This record gives sequence, C-alpha cells and structure tokens, in this order.
Amino acid sequence: PKYVYFFGQGKAEGSAKMRDLLGGKGANLAEMTSIGIPVPPGFTISTEVCERYYENGKQYPPEVREQVEEALAKLEKAMGRKLGDPENPLFVSVRSGAAISMPGMMETILNLGMNDQTVEGFVRQTGNPRVAWDSYRRFIQMFGSVVKGIPHEEFEKILEGLKKERGVELDTDLTAEDLKELVSRYKELYKEKVGEEFPQDVKSQLWAAIDAVFDSWDNERARKYREINNIRGLKGTAVNVQAMVFGNFGDDSGTGVCFSRDPSTGENVFYGEFLMNAQGEDVVAGIRTPEKLSGLAEKMPEVYAQLEEVKNRLERHYRDMQDMEFTIEQGTLYLLQTRNGKRTGRAAVKIAVDMVKEGLISREEAVMRVSPEHIDQLLHPMLDPEAKKKARALAKGLNASPGAATGKIVFTARRAEELAGVEKVILVRKETSPEDIGGMHAAQGILTSTGGMTSHAAVVARGMGKPSVVGCKDVVILDEGRCKIGGREFKEGDWITIDGTTGEVFEGQIPLVVPEIRGELQEFLGWVDEIRLSAVRENCPEKGFRVRTNADTPQDARRAREFGAEGIGLCRTEHMFFDKGKIEAFREMIIADTPEARKKSLEKLLPLQKEDFVGIFQEMAGLPVTIRLLDPPLHEFVLMSETEIEELSRSAGVPAEKIRQRIEALHEMNPMLGHRGCRLGITYPEIYEMQARAVMLAACEVAKEGKQVYPEVMIPLVGMEKELVFLKERIVKVMEEVKSSSGVQVSYRVGTMIEVPRAALVAEKIASHAEFFSFGTNDLTQMTFGFSRDDVGSFLPAYLQMEILEADPFASLDEEGVGQLVKLAAEKGRKARPGIKLGICGEHGGDPASIDFAYRVGLDYVSCSPFRVPIARLAAAQAVI
Ligand code: ADP
Ligand code: MG
Ligand code: MG
Repeated sequence: PKYVYFFGQGKAEGSAKMRDLLGGKGANLAEMTSIGIPVPPGFTISTEVCERYYENGKQYPPEVREQVEEALAKLEKAMGRKLGDPENPLFVSVRSGAAISMPGMMETILNLGMNDQTVEGFVRQTGNPRVAWDSYRRFIQMFGSVVKGIPHEEFEKILEGLKKERGVELDTDLTAEDLKELVSRYKELYKEKVGEEFPQDVKSQLWAAIDAVFDSWDNERARKYREINNIRGLKGTAVNVQAMVFGNFGDDSGTGVCFSRDPSTGENVFYGEFLMNAQGEDVVAGIRTPEKLSGLAEKMPEVYAQLEEVKNRLERHYRDMQDMEFTIEQGTLYLLQTRNGKRTGRAAVKIAVDMVKEGLISREEAVMRVSPEHIDQLLHPMLDPEAKKKARALAKGLNASPGAATGKIVFTARRAEELAGVEKVILVRKETSPEDIGGMHAAQGILTSTGGMTSHAAVVARGMGKPSVVGCKDVVILDEGRCKIGGREFKEGDWITIDGTTGEVFEGQIPLVVPEIRGELQEFLGWVDEIRLSAVRENCPEKGFRVRTNADTPQDARRAREFGAEGIGLCRTEHMFFDKGKIEAFREMIIADTPEARKKSLEKLLPLQKEDFVGIFQEMAGLPVTIRLLDPPLHEFVLMSETEIEELSRSAGVPAEKIRQRIEALHEMNPMLGHRGCRLGITYPEIYEMQARAVMLAACEVAKEGKQVYPEVMIPLVGMEKELVFLKERIVKVMEEVKSSSGVQVSYRVGTMIEVPRAALVAEKIASHAEFFSFGTNDLTQMTFGFSRDDVGSFLPAYLQMEILEADPFASLDEEGVGQLVKLAAEKGRKARPGIKLGICGEHGGDPASIDFAYRVGLDYVSCSPFRVPIARLAAAQAVI
C-alpha cells in the first residue's frame, strides 16, 4: 500500500480531497502545490501509518521506511541538496497535522538536518553565519523538548542568561558568535539531561522526529482537546516532512499568519500579523510583538502584493475564508499552510452572506457554512472581550445555558423576586427546584454547585434563555447569606459575573455586550426558511419541515414568534399553577378530600387558567398551539414551609394537621414513575376537564376577536389505548359543550405524547384515537434507558469517559435505541392515520443532530425553547440539504 505522498515543483500526489488520509495540512500543501502557489516541496506520511503504528505497538508497516527514503531522495533531487551533506545541506521541518485541525496540540520540529558539519556548510553556502547558528540552536531546543522531553524553560533559562551577559534585550540582537556559544550551551544541557551527545546522524534525527510527531497524537494535551471538542473517529495524525525556508535570514525575511477576511467581524479585509527576521512560532509565542500586516505593505510592497494575490486565489479556490501561514526568505514568499479559518458567529454569518452576493457560493452552501453554535453565540449577550481578557475566573462549572450575566449574589428565589426590577441579581444555589421558577425568572443568571446539563436549573435556564453555570464544585453554599467561590468568601449583595457559554465564574461586574442581530442575520435566516419550507419527503405527507417552540407564557410565545417559531409544540400547564396567586388555589384543590370540594377549588382556577391561554392564543394567532394537560406528580405542588401550611389551613378552613397528613399521603417512592400525567387525569378527571374547558373558553374568546386559533390538547404519559379513550371522550365532550354554547367555529385536535415506550410499541392503536403525536423524548429516553434524568450525574460522566456512551442521551437523541421507538411509532402512526401530525418536543427538539434525525424519520416539526428557535431553523434547513 501507498503510505507516502510527495508534493513539489507544481505537482502533488495528494489533493485537498484527501484530508482524512493526509490530514488537513498535508492535503492543503498538496493542493496549493498543484495550483501553483509557492510551497516548499516535501512529502506526507499518511494518517493510516499512524493508525498502524498504534495498532502494532509503535511499529511501522514494513513499506514505510522504504517509501520515506524514496520520497526523501525525490525531495533532495528537487532541492538540489542532500540531508546531512556538509557541502550542500538540506534542512526539513517535520510537522503534525490531523484531518481536523487541533492547533498547537501536537508537535512540529523545524531545521532538522542541522549538525556540527551542516551548520558550517550552511554558513559557507549562504555567507550568513547568523541564520545558520540561529537555526541550529532552535533545532536543538525543539528536538530536545519534543523528542527527549527536556522542559522548554531549561533552554529559555540559558537563552535569557546569555542575553543578560551580552546586555541585549531581543533574540535578534544576539550575534552569530553569541548564537554559536548558545549552541554549545544547549548541547551541554542536552547531554546532561539525556545522558548522551546531541545526535549528529541526520537519519536518526529524522526518524526520532517522525516517531515523536506520531507519539504526539496521543499526548495528554491532544487527547483532552479531542475530548472537549468531541473529535472522534480519526485515524491519527499525518506527518509532513518539508524543505525548510528561513524567515530568520535577516531583515528581508520574516514569518506571519493571515486571514483572508476578519475572523471576528467577517469584514472583507485582509487581516494578519507578521515578524521580520523570525521563524516558526515566534509570532504566536509572544517573545516580540508582531506587526500588523499593513506594516508589510510598507516594508516590502512587492511581497505584500504577491501575498495579497495568493490570498485572493486561495479564497477563490477554496471558496471559503482562509487562515494562512507564510514565510519570506530573502524577499521570496512561501506559503506553509492554509485552511478554512475558524470564526465567530458574527463573522460566519457575514462571510456566508457576502460570499453568496459575490457569486462565490450558493445559498445552500452558505446555509451549510454557518453552524448552529454560531447562531447560538449571536443571540446571547456576552462578556465584553476586552474586559474579559483582564478578568480571571474564580471557578468553572458546566456551561449549561449560554450567554453572560452579571449581578449581585442572592441565595434564595424569594430574595431574587423581592429585588427584581430594583437590582440585578445572580441566583446562587446548591440546586433549583420548580418552586424557584419565579426567582430564576427574576435573576439575570443562575449558578448552582450541583447538577448536570439536564438538571432542573440547566433545563429551565435554557428554556428562559438565562445564562447559567451549573455543577460548579468550587461553589460552596455556607448558609442563606454566604458562600465560597473558588475558596473566597462572598456574601449576599456581592457582585459576580457568570459566563454560561464557557462555564466560568468571575468576581465583580464585567461589562456585557449585546451582539447585533439584524441585517445579514435576518437575510441569512430568510434563506434558511426558504429551504426548510420547500422540503418534500416521501415519508411525510406535508411539505416543509417546521420549527415550533416550547412556551408557557405569552411573553415567551411572543419572543419565540419574533425568533421565527411557527407555533407552540409544548405549552406546559403546570408552570402556570406555580405562579403566585394560583398555587394557593391549586393547593386547596389538592388537599380537598371530596370530588365536590375539588370541583369548587377548580372553579377558582378555571378563569385564571383561561386567562393564561387567552394571552398565548393571541400571541400565536394563526398558528397551532399544543397544550399539555397537567403532568407532574401532585406532591411537587405541596412542598410547603410550616408558615405556608398554617396560611393554607386558614384560607381553606382545613386543620393544619390534616394538610400535613395529606402531604404525607402524596409522598411517592419513585415519583417519576408514579402518579403523574394521564394517571392523574384518570383518577381526578375533573382536573383535565377544567383544563379542557379553559382551553376552549380561551380559544372561543380569541376567535371572537377575529383571530385564528388552532388549539391542540395533548394528553401526557399515555401508554395504553384505553387511557386515551377514557380521557379523550371527556375532553371532547367538554370542548364541544363550550364550543356550541359560544357559537364560534374553532377547530381543535386532541392528541397524545409518545413518551412511554409501550405507547410507541402500540402506536397504531394509539393513533386510531390521537390526532397527533408529540414525541416526549426526555421521558422516552429516561424510560427506554431506565436512567433517572435527575440522577444521571452520578454515573453518566463515567459512561462518557469510558465511551460506553458516545453522547449524553438527554442532550442528543440516541438514534440506535430510543430512535427506533420514534421511527416505529411514526410509521405505525402514519399507517393507522395517514394525516397524523408528528412532532418532537423536549430538549432534543433544539439539538441539531436530533433535528436531523427527526427530519429523516418524517416528523412534521420540532419544538424547542424560544432562544433555540433560530438555531433549530438553521439545523432544520441543514437537515433538508
Ligand atoms: P502547527 O500545526 O502547530 O501550526 P506547523 O506545522 O504549522 O504547526 O508549524 C508551525 C510553524 O512552523 C509554521 O507556521 C511555520 O511558520 C513554521 N514552519 C513549519 N514548516 C516550515 C518550513 N518548512 N519552513 C519554514 N517554516 C516552517
Ligand atoms: Mg500551523
Ligand atoms: Mg414527559
């Protein structure tokens, strides 16, 4: 098999298409060579070799040595120099580069081939002893640290010492003689640390370097990077061996990094930095301060013009913004790397839109270029980047809900509500529970010391679009007035700032900036919708793939609509009952011990509930609204303090002792699998009847205002046909009654959630009664895996780390298992009732991979929290393309 690919003299065996095999760097070096960009010649040892190397206990396949020797001979011929030749020496770099760029994570060695003889040959050839000795000392340092693990600082110490002795400040102020002295001191250090002389044999230098680069694939740093960035399934790194060009030749030489457009704003301006008389990493290392690219235009106008032309060609060729590395040797320009540049969300959108207008890419391509994370970034306030640079994080937790927030610490939801409108507060708690909703709403952001990405705090914060950091172990709550963050004590009223995008927590007040969301973004999302709404699928009778929202209040509904939601896919009615003024009436209902008493308290709730729906229907005029009937177990509503019990006892005229008994009776061992959802509806039908009545009363009222309403009543947690039959009959009866007495025409649907695995298995029976299915994938995942959503924190991290699971199944739908149930239920549902509406709600509705899955199995829509609507619109369009 072929393991080594040559590039040089205008020809290359590889190309940009071969990035899996050659790594991004190797593939693009080949491509640039082929299209006539000046690139020093070289060869790439493929990623397959890396894979074999690790499989065979760090042994290369037998052909590799031979192929490397051949390629090296070819390179020597192309350059008219030989590696290790004292008269006419060739020098090379040995560079890492995987299919996905991992900047700075793996190793690169420059100036390989330097030894006591070749350095002299280099001096004779160039007449420039300074560049020769400078390159040699750099090589010893890189080889020593990369191959032999001698700490960088040891070399730096020696360098600093010499500079002090010579009374100079910059490396470039050292003379050739000084550098020669540095080489001998470096060699001594090497001998002392390694126990042998610095290797003079160039072939052993080369193989030691190649080994070290392959080894760097698996170093701690690279592994962590892949883990954090979810990079999986790569074969390994490639190794590029390339002829050296010397940016440290003198004042007509230099090295730099540039972008074809501004990577942070996206503006079409040539952007970059460079250093004269420098090599390799000097620009990034911050030893000297690099100059702006405009400085190069002044110093070397011809080279600058050439660089600009190369930039234009590369951008046109790759049809994307390029991030390039270049070196100038004695006035001649060489390109050493190009890749599609990383960019901020703002830049991504601007570049995509501009490139469509420039005729460079199609709208579909533009839509594929912007990632859902980019859009996410654009929609949340963030820390002022300048201010953030100066701030130091006190602690770091999970980045549960993006965006930044700053405010005064409060420790209880009650205190947050008290201060709402007067002060900006951050709610700091061990964890949150449903009663904290009000306080969470009032706070700018939420910080918890426990919990995972699907904990209450995380889910609710994302739903509200509130920045949130959860599971921050360095936060210790001391009491209701004090906590420790990263070892420092804080009290109520102290300012902190949290960054939910990174999970960081800062002391004090850091200014925020609100990113712009008009102009290009709007235009871009217009294209997204066009693509999405024209989708035609075989397994879905209706055209288009829609995005709805999960919203429980008129405010959320309005915001979601502004973000482009095409209806509500999940309106949770229980949140309404948690509000002040309603929970009291609801508690009265719960403690009632006769149906009559219950009916009486429900009558109090009816007008309140109706008002909630009126507001939502008004905001969503013309669009469907799916309302889920009461779902949570009753005990959640009666988590009361002693004073609250006393109050309730007075207002309801029921002895406190009786209330306590009732609360005790509602206790469940396993509430998630207990008396909740339709099970409540079946044992207390009057609750669902009241809710159905409220829905229809509200619908008729709004319809009378001349607005179109499309209510969809959804019954949760159904697992059996008869549950649905029992409840649907009652609901329809109530709704028909209200409708006929109001005299307006309102069409409505009654459907169910598919969230109990049994419901998916008997979906054809369920579909004969349900007019729509909404996949409640949170519960469906919980019940299919048998994982308690609120307790996964104790074992899920281990599962992920051990790769028993590839991803958190509560964040991204498990296609292999849970997905089968969704697919099965969708198929059975469509068979039994061809026009049935199918959608997905729950956390997965906002996850791009899950949205793609939903499209493939023929669902009509996804539903997600308001702030994720634009993200879901993009992901939906990307699924269609
Ligand atoms: P990274 O992947 O960390 O960016 P590179 O392999 O790109 O590492 O090497 C870093 C830098 O070393 C390059 O940007 C370039 O400046 C310098 N370099 C690499 N190879 C050569 C070469 N053949 N000639 C001159 N400089 C080189
Ligand atoms: Mg590089
Ligand atoms: Mg559910």
